[in-house]
Amino acid sequence: MTVTELVSYEEALATFEPVMGLEVHVELGTKTKMFCGCSTELGAEPNSQTCPTCLGMPGSLPVVNAVGVESAVKIGLALNCEIAEWCRFARKNYFYPDMPKNFQTSQYDEPIAFNGYLDVQLEDGEVFRVEIERAHMEEDTGKSTHVGGATGRIHGASHSLLDYNRAGIPLIEIVTKPITGAGERAPEVAKAYVAELRELIKALGVSEARMEMGQMRCDVNLSLMPKGAQKFGTRSETKNVNSLRSVERAARFEIQRHAAVLSSGGTILQETRHFHEEDGSTTSGRIKEEAEDYRYFPEPDLVPVAPSREWVEELRAGLPELPRVRRNRLREEWGVSEHDMQSILNAGAVDLIVATIEAGADAASARKWWMGELSRRANEAGTDLAAMEITPEQVARVCALVAEGFLNDKLARQVIEGVLAGEGAPDEVVEKRGLKVVSDEGALGTAVDEAIAANAGIADKIRSGKVAAAGALVGAVMKATRGQADAARVRELILERLGVEG
Ligand SMILES: [Zn+2]
Repeated sequence: MTVTELVSYEEALATFEPVMGLEVHVELGTKTKMFCGCSTELGAEPNSQTCPTCLGMPGSLPVVNAVGVESAVKIGLALNCEIAEWCRFARKNYFYPDMPKNFQTSQYDEPIAFNGYLDVQLEDGEVFRVEIERAHMEEDTGKSTHVGGATGRIHGASHSLLDYNRAGIPLIEIVTKPITGAGERAPEVAKAYVAELRELIKALGVSEARMEMGQMRCDVNLSLMPKGAQKFGTRSETKNVNSLRSVERAARFEIQRHAAVLSSGGTILQETRHFHEEDGSTTSGRIKEEAEDYRYFPEPDLVPVAPSREWVEELRAGLPELPRVRRNRLREEWGVSEHDMQSILNAGAVDLIVATIEAGADAASARKWWMGELSRRANEAGTDLAAMEITPEQVARVCALVAEGFLNDKLARQVIEGVLAGEGAPDEVVEKRGLKVVSDEGALGTAVDEAIAANAGIADKIRSGKVAAAGALVGAVMKATRGQADAARVRELILERLGVEG
């Protein structure tokens, strides 16, 4: 089945109802791995952060990372899950070179958290509830690099390199129940769910959840059933999708592909698929094993995890305000629309604006600079807003200088430019560049008189009632003061001098 044979999205949805399942892996931000004391720091020399336990040497014994368990419980609670009173780890047996133990320590029929939900808000404000099946603890695998092939995949490669630094880093896998009833909005729901989950994970402080760094990745399971049917169709599983946009595109593509196969009388294979960023398509991976193929069995080397109810309640009481609640509160405080709030969220500006307001700016100004000038510059530089070399305190200072009349917007933009260029704090940039609004009426008056004298023809036009011509004189004064005058005041002065009513 090739891309050209897809049926249109509308046609697919007219006949079929999509059913989705989303499996999200989150790499926890613990200092050490899940079952040993090795560092989890990124960027180290390959295989420098390993030990007998995470390399699966005979005789080594794992110990559970307490912070890993605490993070798992926090995630479970934030997802409105029940927390197991007692649960075990299990060995998921498979041979693959990126897991030297030949099994992955995971959880099988006894997850630490189960039966929850997450309410997600769609772009038009509608709230959709996604039910959570389970959240369980496991460990990440090592990283394979296939060398010599054109695609970077194993096919065609001459040899492969293995880095076990990542093997054993704690993961939480969060699995939804089948998501039904979303219809044509299924891809949008998938994207909104992963976005909301990412915000939640960040708010809990258990991971930075940076998808582009693989700290959070999503498997998109999708099947179609004829409208009105009860029995789910065969699903495909698109693995390791690592951006919000890609999650949406992968779901959309699979809906169209399944519909094409089913409409032409074909059969959907239960298989994993690879997502391709370039054109948004998926291609076949491997035929999917069933859970029983892994021969799970309880991990004999680890004691069961039995979180006490007191501890669970303590963690529940310590949960931060959840992102959706916080967003709604801020939206009301700032007086912005759902749509504007969505833009602020998409720009990654919520926390920056909050910090700028805390540093003394009013909400409207803080929003204006972060969403205007700074977003524009971040886009140009191809970087995140949060990575810009300016602090919320500095933006608040710029807001204050504008509010006090020391700067107009044009000068404020130059101050921001200076701060970003490393010229120092806003006040230093103002000083060094000599950027202050000329508010001295004497100096302004002189500049206005000079402009009138130098443009006698224009001045006559204005005197005869062509007030619109004043723009040219305002321009001349602004030029003479290097943009450091208040244009509205200049206009007033010109009309006053020429005896014309504004
Ligand atoms: Zn280790």
